[in-house]
Amino acid sequence: MKHISVIGAGTMGNGIAHVFAMKNYSVTLIDVQADALEKALATISKNLDRMVAKDKLTEADKAKTMANIQTTTDLATGVKTADLVVEAATENMDLKLSIFRAMDQAAPKAAILATNTSSISITAIASVTKRPEQVIGMHFMNPVPVMKLVEVIRGYATSDAVTQTIMDMSKGLGKVPVEVNDYPGFVANRILMPMINEAIYSLYEGVAGVAEIDTVMMLGMAHPMGPLQLADFIGLDVCLSILKVLQDGFGNPKYAPCPLLVNMVTAGKLGRKSGEGFYSYAHGTKEWVLADRFKK
Ligand code: NAD
Repeated sequence: MKHISVIGAGTMGNGIAHVFAMKNYSVTLIDVQADALEKALATISKNLDRMVAKDKLTEADKAKTMANIQTTTDLATGVKTADLVVEAATENMDLKLSIFRAMDQAAPKAAILATNTSSISITAIASVTKRPEQVIGMHFMNPVPVMKLVEVIRGYATSDAVTQTIMDMSKGLGKVPVEVNDYPGFVANRILMPMINEAIYSLYEGVAGVAEIDTVMMLGMAHPMGPLQLADFIGLDVCLSILKVLQDGFGNPKYAPCPLLVNMVTAGKLGRKSGEGFYSYAHGTKEWVLADRFKK
């Protein structure tokens, strides 16, 4: 495996490109928006600078890593010589199906087609391709360069050999892969999202404020970040999509997204990436304060 194509250059796509490029893979980063590609390269460069400042990387390694990344807005060209494609586009079923149809046509026959989806069925995605045994979930965590876990999700038809390749490759990236089966939310989000939704319900019902809810979970449960802040970091639109997948997939009302979450997404308050969610990030991603709306 030499050439990795990454589809989607948002929060996750730039991190995935970063970790593969650092391990000397040749990476093509693909996005429909040219400015998303520019922003991704700037983010990767800034994150590598941080590693250089901490003496975890030399300037020469940084330059080599950046040189390993090409960008394009054309999917067919971008996946033409890929050994592995990791799709990290917006969490939307119809969008992912259309991307997988297109990349099944354009990528080499032997290429493995992986998706970083948080919750959408790998089996459903695989079913629109002519190579369902080569389709797999490769679910990186945010921020990708920092987080160790890769949830490796086997679709109904995913072969043993493809699963083994992705497990080995994840280890080669310095990650810890965990193999799971393909049911809504897999393991990570089946457990995480109901907790985040319950935190939002606690706020919505006036049980406590944003800072109080996050403090209870940080100091009481030793979570490094409270659930509301974590939701801001993940993206409230992503959280809402995942909850809808759980609700539809299990047909159980316990997964119904809190109306406050729905309202915030409708209002464009998506968390860190839009500048405001439960907290405001107007002064940068490192300095957050309660969003005005949630100040007492
Ligand atoms: P994001 O909104 O930050 O980025 C998505 C990118 O996809 C955007 O740049 C958009 O322009 C691009 N895109 C949309 N349609 C495209 C197309 N047809 N071709 C190419 N690019 C296209 O989203 P994100 O948070 O990076 O999430 C990406 C995927 O990763 C989703 O499936 C999400 O569920 C999953 N994920 C997200 C997180 C997280 O914490 N945000 C964690 C794990 C997994």
